[in-house]
Amino acid sequence: FRHGEASEVVVNTPNGPVPFGETHPIVVVAGPCSVENEDMIVETARRVKAAGAKFLRGGAFKPRTSPYAFQGHGESALELLATAREVTGLGIITELMDASDLEMLGEVADIIQIGARNMHNFSLLKKVGAQDKPVLLKRGMSATIEEWLMAAEYILAAGNTQVILCERGIRTFDRQYTRNTLDLSVIPVLRKLTHLPIMIDPSHGTGWSDQVPSMARAAIAAGTDSLMIEVHPTPNKALSDGPQSLTPDRFDRLMGEELAVIGKAV
Ligand code: PEP
Ligand code: MN
Repeated sequence: FRHGEASEVVVNTPNGPVPFGETHPIVVVAGPCSVENEDMIVETARRVKAAGAKFLRGGAFKPRTSPYAFQGHGESALELLATAREVTGLGIITELMDASDLEMLGEVADIIQIGARNMHNFSLLKKVGAQDKPVLLKRGMSATIEEWLMAAEYILAAGNTQVILCERGIRTFDRQYTRNTLDLSVIPVLRKLTHLPIMIDPSHGTGWSDQVPSMARAAIAAGTDSLMIEVHPTPNKALSDGPQSLTPDRFDRLMGEELAVIGKAV
């Protein structure tokens, strides 16, 4: 069980420090699944910033189910993220899959994402634990809460205390109407077990854009500290995760009137 106060993770972005934690406003991270080209990443960055997001997300290295699916543009995508960061001042979150990319990725990422498929990759966890950038640790799709917290412990034990836990849906039996089952019950459970800040990702958690706004609202009502939302300028042309991506206009509506109803400062 947790001892003591909630900890905060304060991330320095070009626009200033952004604190994550129970006593701070909700932090919204938004952006496409993959960085596809300069125009789309810069346009998305501008739009999500205008709507109130504090971080731009976008994958350069993509952990795809099929080896024949788009794998991400790699190093050149990192350069495009750097451009979007420069233009908007948003913090950048992008996924690290291979420890050998850590240095290069650390030059642009303000937060390093460890994806669901690597939650159990203990050598990678030790590596991100031994460096200074904050880490976003996604829950493995079949990981118990204890396994998830132990994965976080690998990072903490290696010396990095800047860890945010991200629920992104777990695998249950329905794959027809939902991609995953978003486990919002982790919010009260994590509050009891850990001091670490919580993020909820209703995009991967549901797999369908029409389910994302309701689940984002539910997550805030349940007490999350932050949200991750996939946003793409033209979801039907996206190279990955189009069906679960909101358009910038739909994201505006969520960030405006829909989240305002919850009464939480975003
Ligand atoms: C992602 O954030 O695009 C991603 C691949 O997430 P997850 O690791 O949760 O599947
Ligand atoms: Mn995705």
